[in-house]
Amino acid sequence: MTTKIIVAGAGLGGLAAASCLMKAGYEVEIYEQSPVLAEVGAGIQISANAFHVMRHLGVDQELLKVGVRPGAYVFRLHDTGEELQRFSLSAEHEAAHGAPYVQLHRADLHDILAARARSFRPDVVRLNHRLTGFTQDARGVEARFENGAVARGDLLIGADGLKSVVRRQLWGDAPATYTGDGAWRLVVPVERLPTPRLDPVMNVFMGPGGHAVCYYLRAGALLNFVGIIETDDISEESWTLKLPWEKLKKDFEGWHPSLQTVIDCADKNEVYRWSLHNRAPIRQWGEGRVTLLGDSAHPTLPYLAQGAVMAIEDGAVLTRALGMAGSIEDALKLYERNRVDRTAKIVEQSTFNRRLFHLPSVQAMRDAFASRNEGEDRNKWLYSYNPLTVDLA
Ligand SMILES: Cc1cc2nc3c(=O)[nH]c(=O)nc-3n(C[C@H](O)[C@H](O)[C@H](O)COP(=O)(O)OP(=O)(O)OC[C@H]3O[C@@H](n4cnc5c(N)ncnc54)[C@H](O)[C@@H]3O)c2cc1C
Repeated sequence: MTTKIIVAGAGLGGLAAASCLMKAGYEVEIYEQSPVLAEVGAGIQISANAFHVMRHLGVDQELLKVGVRPGAYVFRLHDTGEELQRFSLSAEHEAAHGAPYVQLHRADLHDILAARARSFRPDVVRLNHRLTGFTQDARGVEARFENGAVARGDLLIGADGLKSVVRRQLWGDAPATYTGDGAWRLVVPVERLPTPRLDPVMNVFMGPGGHAVCYYLRAGALLNFVGIIETDDISEESWTLKLPWEKLKKDFEGWHPSLQTVIDCADKNEVYRWSLHNRAPIRQWGEGRVTLLGDSAHPTLPYLAQGAVMAIEDGAVLTRALGMAGSIEDALKLYERNRVDRTAKIVEQSTFNRRLFHLPSVQAMRDAFASRNEGEDRNKWLYSYNPLTVDLA
C-alpha cells in the first residue's frame, strides 16, 4: 500500500518537500491556508546545499533562467563602502560544491516549485485549508481544517511556517523575543537606477546598529534591498506590513550614496518592514507520525540567508529517511536526528552574524574581519553539505 503524506503549508519548504516525496513515489496532499498560491515580491538566495535538490527535481535550468548568479559575497563599511572582505560565489562556489549560488525573486522560485509539484499531481495543493489541529494513533493521522474538512494519511508534515499550528499543538507556543531589528525591504526595477550601478554581487553594507543587503533578481531586471536597522519601534512579523518611505529614508541617512539612490528610486508606496524575532532552536521536532519542516522547526534570522535553504534540505533528508527506515516513526526520528544539530548551528550562526554586522565602530569591524575568513568558514561546513548524499546516521 502507498504511504500517504499530508503536508500543511505550501510555502517554499512544503512545496519542495512534496516534490521530493512524490518523485520518490509517495502519495502527497498539500493543504494551504491561503486562497491563492503566491509569494511576496522580495529576493531569496539559494546556495549549492539547496540547489542540489533543485537539480534533483529537474527545475535547475528554469531557475537559472530567472535567477542571477552573483560574482561574490562582499562585506563593506556602511558609509564609505570600503570593502572589508569578499569571497567568490561564482565559478569557485560551483566548482567547490557542485552546484551554483543563485539569487531569485521569491515569486519565481515559488511558482516554479508549485508547477513542479503539480506536474506530479495536478490537484496536489488544496487551497483555503487552514489546519487547526490533528490526532494520531497507530493506524494513521487525521488533520482537521477550519473549513470543516478532514484529511487522513500515514504521516503529517507541519511545513506551516513561523506561527506553526503543528508546532504549537506538539510543543506549545515558541516564545519569540524581539531582536531589536526591523527589516525594511523593497525591490527596484534597474532601469530606474542611474549608472554606474552596484556590482552584481551580494553586497552587505555594515554599520553601527544596522546593515543593508543589495542584490539583483529576475535575470538582473530588479534590485533587491533589505535594510536592517536597530529600533525600539516594534511592528509585526509580516511580509505585507507597509511603513512610510520617509521613515526608511531617515533610518539610512548618512549611509553610502549607492544605497541612498536605491531608496530614492523605490516606489514610495511599496516599502515594507518586518520586525525580526528570535526563537530558541528546539531539540525535538516531531512525535509519532507527525513532524516539522522549515521555519516551523527552526525559525531563524535571515543573516546567513539559509531559512528556505534549510527547509529545502529538510525535504530531501526526510524523503531519504522514509526510504531507509522500517517504520514511519523510525523514519521521522532518523530525519530529525540528522537535521537538529545542523539547523541549530545555522540558527546560532545567523544570530551571531547580527552582532558581527552591527559592530559599534569601524575599528571593531576591521578587527573582526581581519581575524576571520567568512568564505572559508562557510565553504567548510555550510555550503558543502549535500542533503541528497550526506550520510544519515
Ligand atoms: C527579510 C528576509 C530575508 C530572507 N532571505 C532568505 C534568503 O536569502 N535565503 C533563504 O534561504 N531564506 C531567507 N529567508 C528565510 C525564508 O524566507 C524562510 O525561512 C522560508 O520562507 C521558510 O519557508 P517555509 O516553507 O518553512 O515557511 P513559509 O514560507 O512561512 O510557508 C509556510 C506556509 O504555510 C502556510 N500556513 C501557515 N499556517 C498554516 C495552517 N495552519 N494551515 C495551512 N497552511 C498554513 C502559509 O500560508 C505558508 O504558505 C529570509 C527571511 C526574511 C524575513
